[in-house]
Amino acid sequence: MAIEKTFLMVKPDGVERQVVGDIVDRFERRGFTMKGAKLMVIPKELAEKHYAEHSERPFFGELVDFITSGPVFAMVWEGENVIKLARTMMGATKPEESNPGTIRGDYATTVSHNIIHGSDSLASAEREISLFFGEDLV
Ligand code: ADP
Ligand code: MG
Repeated sequence: MAIEKTFLMVKPDGVERQVVGDIVDRFERRGFTMKGAKLMVIPKELAEKHYAEHSERPFFGELVDFITSGPVFAMVWEGENVIKLARTMMGATKPEESNPGTIRGDYATTVSHNIIHGSDSLASAEREISLFFGEDLV
């Protein structure tokens, strides 16, 4: 298994609830390395690009409004199989399927306010790192 990089982001609800430290701690303890991080308010245009795959979904407007509603903590993490393992640590998208012990399973009860984003594939990771941090970090 190769060393990979992934894009992770604490969403506005997670920053508001002050769980950034806990989330960083979980990935550090697992053995991953943070390669970049910034607290930022996402411009609407970047939010629409980031979530382009969902542009036809009924919740797209609500999703863009939410993700731009306050600061997010955007990060690049590196390590063995980090794309898949980070998704497992995040927990499932639907709250009824996210297990206790996962980030979403510990902090989220709704699908729209679910604390964290993580890339779902190598192609997504490259695209999202490039969007938020530029080609140099990919
Ligand atoms: P994930 O973030 O687990 O990769 P998706 O890519 O399917 O999930 O969806 C992106 C984000 O859109 C989710 O994290 C969630 O915040 C939001 N979302 C997904 N489905 C719904 C829904 N049915 N209603 C409202 N928001 C949703
Ligand atoms: Mg997704």
